[in-house]
Amino acid sequence: MRAFIGLGSNLANPAVQVQTAIADIEKLVAVQLINCSSLYKSPPMGPQDQPDYINAVVEIETDLSAHDLLDHLQMIELQHGRVRQRHWGERTLDLDLLVFGDSRINDARLQVPHPGIAQRSFVLYPLAEIAPELVISDLGEINTLLKHCPVDGLIRIENSEI
Ligand code: ATP
Ligand code: CA
Ligand code: CA
Repeated sequence: MRAFIGLGSNLANPAVQVQTAIADIEKLVAVQLINCSSLYKSPPMGPQDQPDYINAVVEIETDLSAHDLLDHLQMIELQHGRVRQRHWGERTLDLDLLVFGDSRINDARLQVPHPGIAQRSFVLYPLAEIAPELVISDLGEINTLLKHCPVDGLIRIENSEI
């Protein structure tokens, strides 16, 4: 299955958190890393009294089920010292399963496609960077979504700036 994962961090050296999390995803059994976006910097969503975020999106190929993949992603969040505090608050690492093939999932643990995709520039722009042809279940073509999503302070980080 072709899947996309969104990464975010705004604590404890966010760029390193995101880069090492990508390496952790690559090491998962039954997961093959296909593509990585650039790193991006974004203002916080929700509470404004927290640092800016570093974001990225990766594409993988996997034989895992969506729920097993979520288990592994949550394990990686814990390994990165994630502590659940306030809603949309600061965190060392957030891993969201954005897209899982053409799957539509809506249960207590998992909503796929991730409900925030169309409104969040820090998801949509890195996703479009690595998958400009993507058509997302229920949402449609990524390029159309992009046209309706303001940049919202998102900045792509050059390699030399990391
Ligand atoms: P948001 O989901 O709006 O980006 P968040 O990332 O801050 O908010 P979390 O606290 O990381 O939310 O996750 C809360 C719960 O969301 C998780 O325990 C998980 O079960 C559930 N969840 C539902 N759909 C997904 C998904 N597609 N990817 C990751 N987690 C999901
Ligand atoms: Ca999230
Ligand atoms: Ca999350």
